Amino acid sequence: MLDEPPRQSLDAAMPATPAWPPSSLPRLFVDQQLVEGGELQLEGQPANYFGAVLRLGEGDKVKLFDDRTGEWLAEIVAGGKRRVALRVVERLRPREDVPDLWLLFAPIKRGRIDWIVEKATELGVARIVPVLTRRTVVDRVNLDRLRAHMIEAAEQCERTALPEFAAAERLDSLLSQWPSGRPLLFADESGGEPLLDAIAPGPAAILIGPEGGFTPEESQAIRALSAARPVSLGPRILRADTAVVAALSLWMAAAGDWSRHRNR
Ligand code: SAM
Repeated sequence: MLDEPPRQSLDAAMPATPAWPPSSLPRLFVDQQLVEGGELQLEGQPANYFGAVLRLGEGDKVKLFDDRTGEWLAEIVAGGKRRVALRVVERLRPREDVPDLWLLFAPIKRGRIDWIVEKATELGVARIVPVLTRRTVVDRVNLDRLRAHMIEAAEQCERTALPEFAAAERLDSLLSQWPSGRPLLFADESGGEPLLDAIAPGPAAILIGPEGGFTPEESQAIRALSAARPVSLGPRILRADTAVVAALSLWMAAAGDWSRHRNR
């Protein structure tokens, strides 16, 4: 006789209570303080995104965050392609504390610098600083465009705190004003201790050089800084953008917040 199929446990059979609000709700950064019951008007690109792209209208719910108070549920009270009016319903999450990690990197060509900013935001850095070095091929950094990439990445990866985006700084000036108590993990392809051995809990900064690498004089100046720790990312020469993602991931796993699960 055929075996009876195992009786599915009641729990497994019952549909799970869908999470509220659904994580699929559209999510946008708004550069103004949000309060419960507050009303706000969106125009331009955000309005176009809600009203025209997603065709949302009266009664539809969205998620907003302001990089000040956290993430909020909001309801559209009047929709349109050019202007959308919303009422703030309730706070969903407070502004998160991201690990105190800075990314310092020498700007590289356009597409790849956007990618670096996007990935650094997703990986959870607190501050992003473009560093101008002798072999940096880019002499002007379009901060507005990079900031837009940073915000889009934060909207997508559900950050409630935006990284601080600093103006580009020359390497020598950065070194001369280095803050005490913050180790500078200097990714040096000419050799250093394995990055994992150099990571310790607490504030830190990771420095990644340009495609052409640091000049011997620059490497010497960095190594002269007492806070500097030359680190290796292995035997192969990584492209600068690969080095950024590799170093940030190792740090986040070892001393960052990757052991913490996403809270709702
Ligand atoms: N032009 C350099 C060369 O050919 O020796 C390579 C520079 S690499 C493309 C860009 C930056 O990534 C370096 O300045 C360094 O900060 C980092 N990097 C790449 N590979 C690395 C490694 N194996 N160890 C440490 N840092 C590395």
